[in-house]
Amino acid sequence: MNPFDLIGFSGNPLDRLSEKRDDAAALAALLANPGARAVAFAGTMPVVRANGGGCSALHALDDLRALPAEEAPVLLGRDDEGPVYGLLLPEATLAHKPIGQDAFVDRHESVIAGRPDLSVRDLRALAVENALPRDEIAIIAQAKTVLHWHANHRFCARCGRETVPAQAGWRRDCENCGAQHFPRTDPVVIVLVTHGDSCLMGRQKQFPAGMYSCLAGFVECGETIEEAARREIFEESGVRLGAVKILASQPWPFPASLMIGCRAEALSRDIVMDAQELEDCRWFSREELRAMVADLHLHGLKAPHPIAIARGLLEHWLAGA
Ligand SMILES: [Zn+2]
Repeated sequence: MNPFDLIGFSGNPLDRLSEKRDDAAALAALLANPGARAVAFAGTMPVVRANGGGCSALHALDDLRALPAEEAPVLLGRDDEGPVYGLLLPEATLAHKPIGQDAFVDRHESVIAGRPDLSVRDLRALAVENALPRDEIAIIAQAKTVLHWHANHRFCARCGRETVPAQAGWRRDCENCGAQHFPRTDPVVIVLVTHGDSCLMGRQKQFPAGMYSCLAGFVECGETIEEAARREIFEESGVRLGAVKILASQPWPFPASLMIGCRAEALSRDIVMDAQELEDCRWFSREELRAMVADLHLHGLKAPHPIAIARGLLEHWLAGA
């Protein structure tokens, strides 16, 4: 199997209907569709309901309309069953019920007043626990990123006046100065660096205990993906890279990243770690990484979770690529 098939938040099944976003009649017909569904967020957390043994984040749009929403629903797209929307609920609708927390995964559960059938969960926890169908996780990633953008772009970046949603939620317009603002996606390079039979991994202080992962960083203005990979790896580890190849990518909705998975060969093994960014950084043999992936490492070291593209990059290499 392709190790990138299992990474989280990819495989969104919706037709985004971008050609309909300026068609008022088509948008009205979609909104009136009795089969319309929605995913909802309270702040940064998706609203879920129990569904058989698991849970679901797709609700009938009509059922959510009784709840106070921040703005009109964003049209995410359509599948065979009808349109799907994203709705942002005010955080004030929540009552928090802590069920434990660690530094990586927020395990608070929150409830919506008057709606005992609904609860609000941390997205990273839902993804790690595999609590939702794969299609729904991808739709939620799309919704989370675009709704986060709306919540943080209420005012025009050019003139400071309030903006209004346009194009079914895929643009915000400033009626004062005429500026149009579009949702953003932030590219991040994440690099599998190899040298002979070893790969380079590091850990940040906030990682779960014992977990190491591929090094990563944001692409900056005026940089190619390959240049960003070389710069980030050198800044964090002191390692210079030869050729950089792009292998796969992944939406990462915390809040708006696109992870670009690269593979690169190191020109040397000498490490000069950036102690501000990393707690540790070192070379791992294939044998040691195999033990980490199998959760059998002698000192309890762990590979990244299978939802992360880093795991796909590492397994791709272990498979001999
Ligand atoms: Zn403006």
